[in-house]
Amino acid sequence: MASKLLLITFVICRLLSTVGFTMDPLARVTGQLSSDPDDLEAASRDFGGMTRAKPLAVLHPASAEEVASVVRAGSAQGFTVSARGHGHSINGQAQVGRNGVVIDMSGPKGRRFREEFTKPVLGEVVNRGGDSRNRSRSRSYYVDVWGGELWIDVLKWSLDEHGLAPKSWTDYLYLSVGGTLSNAGISGQAFHHGPQTSNVYELDVVTGKGELMTCSEEKNSELFHGVLGGLGQFGIITRARIALEPAPQRVKWVRVLYSNFSAFTKDQEYLISLHGGGSSERFDYVEGFIIVDEGLINNWRSSFFSPRNPVNLTLIGARGVLYCLEVTKNYDESTADTVDQVVETLLKKLDFIPSSVFTTDVTYLDFLDRVHKAELKLRAKNLWHVPHPWLNLFVPKSQISKFNDGVFKVMLAGNKTSGPILIYPMNRNKWDQRSSVVTPDEDVFYLVALLRSATEEGPHTLDNLRDQNRRILHFCEESGIKVKRYLPDHSTQDEWKGHFGEKWEAFKQMKMKFDPSHILAVGQRIFQPSF
Ligand code: FAD
Repeated sequence: MASKLLLITFVICRLLSTVGFTMDPLARVTGQLSSDPDDLEAASRDFGGMTRAKPLAVLHPASAEEVASVVRAGSAQGFTVSARGHGHSINGQAQVGRNGVVIDMSGPKGRRFREEFTKPVLGEVVNRGGDSRNRSRSRSYYVDVWGGELWIDVLKWSLDEHGLAPKSWTDYLYLSVGGTLSNAGISGQAFHHGPQTSNVYELDVVTGKGELMTCSEEKNSELFHGVLGGLGQFGIITRARIALEPAPQRVKWVRVLYSNFSAFTKDQEYLISLHGGGSSERFDYVEGFIIVDEGLINNWRSSFFSPRNPVNLTLIGARGVLYCLEVTKNYDESTADTVDQVVETLLKKLDFIPSSVFTTDVTYLDFLDRVHKAELKLRAKNLWHVPHPWLNLFVPKSQISKFNDGVFKVMLAGNKTSGPILIYPMNRNKWDQRSSVVTPDEDVFYLVALLRSATEEGPHTLDNLRDQNRRILHFCEESGIKVKRYLPDHSTQDEWKGHFGEKWEAFKQMKMKFDPSHILAVGQRIFQPSF
């Protein structure tokens, strides 16, 4: 009812404003505010494709000040506001509904990356170490980027212009900086560098009160840590200072198969234990995935295997569930002569099926942007815009074997897969516990990601996959497997309380402090707006 009233007021006010009256709740908003049906439609959807909610209007901001102006208007006039990075949420997390405005963080329509307000700026930090007689100096670089920038653009810019690149990644790069920093941002580099939230020096944030604040470890540190992994609850990231490193030129990319789960996890855990070593003593990326049927070979992450590297599971002699370890070693001209030797030495320590080594060699950009190739193929087959009932879990190391026995070997075995199932471990000490992200309470935990696409018919309908997700969560609960959801989707406050555990009270207090009217990111369904 309230939202209907606001909508009617909005429409009447817009009409009145055309003849000089200004009762419009959005009147004080500066910037390109749109009620164009195409904009509203785009903002009402996300990658999950399971929820839709049309907003009142969409703002295409041209500056952080314009973001602040809509947030101030929201808290004064009683409407909600959500930043939308690239809309790659699964469960409507960036949606607001009829009583709210979506801020399209990709900026003014038709903008180009290099336009002044989003132009990235390179910077340099000089780190001083050692005692006064033995001073050492090292340099590290960073780039300042607009919060709505896509990681692919950040990468291309830093690589092309400076030969540098961010350190920590997601598997897919068409995600916004603000969107992944609001969650964690993980991929196979996280065991060594930590998630993307551990690789940021400073942020500009528009809080729920409409204040534009700069924050870092040293300055407004509560806001800084709270916003990282904060699911958009405390503020909108308008600028992020991202840590960079010299980029390698090429990547040796290796996949090996296991039929024995404990050998697979033992090797993964061994490889991530090498995180402290110098670059030649470890792989740069460690991931893994589950093969419950040969369908995966033609699946969207598998172009690697074919056509030059066909996988014939029968020849390998494997039956049942298979586990694929995926690792990479970066190199450049100075290490090109030794990289194969390094890879071989590391592989020799592992216990995979001997005939199952698949190797390829690609540019660093091609490796990081690998999922985009699969996206293009799926788009061509009209299989990209389908519902995606994804389930992402952090599973403690001590319980991953029980998870395998109950889920991979029983619930999923024999099913034709309808999307990749990732599994890889990470070191908790690389996660800053002051951030809002929640992880299991063990030194090592796994990401298990069931990244499935629903079909209209057959075993993988949306209802079936959702039901299976529920059964997996139920199995974990019954078996005492203490999983934490990644990219969480809870609907009651009790569930959120359980999710955040001992971080909940601090999380609630920060909400009161930085967004007292609860107007931000209501699509996460953590707090109800106070009007
Ligand atoms: P949106 O969906 O637009 O927003 C997500 C949430 O963040 C919303 O609540 C929104 O309000 C908030 N938000 C958006 N921008 C800002 C901002 N500037 N400031 C504050 N809050 C903001 N994640 C990984 O960690 N690793 C992966 O490898 C990975 N791969 C993926 C692959 C695909 C194909 C997809 C669809 C998702 C993947 N994800 C992965 C998940 C992804 O990181 C999250 O869904 C992320 O939120 C998407 O970013 P986005 O820019 O599309 O965010």
